[in-house]
Amino acid sequence: MPRPPAPGPRIARAAHSEAADQSAPPFRLASRQFHPESSVVRAGGISFGAGLVVIAGPCSIESRRHILESARSVKAAGADMLRGGAYKPRTSPYDFQGLGEKALRWLAEAGEATGLPVVTEVLSQEDVERVAEYADLIQIGARNMQNTALLRKLARTKRPVLLKRGPSATISEWLLAAEYLLAGGNPNVVLCERGIRTFETATRNTLDLAGVALVKRLSHLPVIVDPSHATGLAALVPAASRAAVAVGADGLLIEVHPRPAEAWSDGAQSLDPRVFAALVQELRAWPARANAHA
Ligand code: PEP
Ligand code: MN
Repeated sequence: MPRPPAPGPRIARAAHSEAADQSAPPFRLASRQFHPESSVVRAGGISFGAGLVVIAGPCSIESRRHILESARSVKAAGADMLRGGAYKPRTSPYDFQGLGEKALRWLAEAGEATGLPVVTEVLSQEDVERVAEYADLIQIGARNMQNTALLRKLARTKRPVLLKRGPSATISEWLLAAEYLLAGGNPNVVLCERGIRTFETATRNTLDLAGVALVKRLSHLPVIVDPSHATGLAALVPAASRAAVAVGADGLLIEVHPRPAEAWSDGAQSLDPRVFAALVQELRAWPARANAHA
């Protein structure tokens, strides 16, 4: 895989212009300047940063049967890793909040049944040990990107972390959040762009594709893209996925539901398994770096 060039001083300055020291990026351990080689982060036998990794599964785990069915369909479609939420960060306290520990158990069971490693979100410090027991990769959601106490605690677990970009976080703030994990002793960090908040409301968020290309230059850490939360619309997910791979993303995190219309959360952005299968097949057929299995 060709290595992106180190950032020139102008690019590095643009990304942290709010920092007092303009000579070096404030995110030292995350910076490519001090670590020119791209990092490969391993989680549950999957390598991030060595070809396209596809993570897929439902937004929320709805039952044991549901996650097993989801796992089988994404595995058959060619996914590398299974996702599913047990602790859900919802905008409204009246919305479904996730089924908690029993959902974690079902997720791990579905992962074992299909041979897929699993990723799931941890919402609070008190759940870190419990989630670490079941998850191969622990997700920090967009809303928690700057929860520094949670970052510090996750740094101590040494379990690989998927760090989503906050909806209003600058690239510098995102890389500084990664720095908390790295400085706390956990080098296993995968970044995830999932769209940022802009004036535009026609899509759920605005997918910052140039930001992905920039972070690949600024940092040695693998970067994946979540086209589901970035767009909010299943019809846009294939196009956003292709674009993400084209700008150099190391992977995709895609919400897939056996029956999107019946999903307990995020059905509008969830792909039908057949659409997902066609997308994975298309992306795996791309040449060179787009193919993790090549
Ligand atoms: C999710 O991946 O389930 C999720 C809630 O995403 P985000 O934190 O990006 O909103
Ligand atoms: Mn979701």
